Amino acid sequence: MSARLVLATRNAHKVGELRAILGDVLGAAVEVLPVDDPSLPPAVDVAETGVTFAENALLKARAVAATTGLPSVADDSGIAVDVLGGSPGVFSARWAGRHGDDAANLALLLAQLADVPEPHRGAQFVCAAALVVPGGVERVEHGRLRGVLERAPRGAGGFGYDPALRPDGHDLTCGQLAPEAKNAISHRGQAFRALAPAVLEALGGRGAGG
Ligand code: IMP
Repeated sequence: MSARLVLATRNAHKVGELRAILGDVLGAAVEVLPVDDPSLPPAVDVAETGVTFAENALLKARAVAATTGLPSVADDSGIAVDVLGGSPGVFSARWAGRHGDDAANLALLLAQLADVPEPHRGAQFVCAAALVVPGGVERVEHGRLRGVLERAPRGAGGFGYDPALRPDGHDLTCGQLAPEAKNAISHRGQAFRALAPAVLEALGGRGAGG
């Protein structure tokens, strides 16, 4: 029987990215379930009351571990813009006022930076990846992807602020990169690859190949 791990997110884009990232490192012996999988008890909505990515990731992973009784991982992530002192940060998903309105959030951020010249348009995606094992360990790892904010969105791939962030050393924005190319360098890829050994240990060593 395969070991089961729950992803504490309802964001379909994140589920897709996390399944690809974790599938690569954990292998087929680990069944990675989204929190709304019909085999799991209904998940409760968690208020993201933390002021750091790590706090919010832990809040989400703890809540899902408690309702499912299974090891759970959560992601909390966002974009931190240099000239805005790290904002929107933990408010990235609700920057324009309505939670999850990606188009409005992106439009507002680019409008706020309209007068900011190229050398000062640095920003980074940040991700905190949390693992919570019921009655056991809690662990958080971080990942960062630095780049420059374009003046206008480019690319229809990814989600959120992807079409605006061009990673350092790349000509394409995250919205133009192939999913595997983004996962290879992304904040989420880095954080979850760093977390993978603890996940494997929590699942009793059942990973890629066995
Ligand atoms: P969370 O669901 O509370 O972690 O909010 C994450 C928000 O940060 C999303 O709604 C996006 O706006 C932004 N974000 C996080 N990761 C990414 C990414 O990989 N690409 C683009 N935007 C992202």
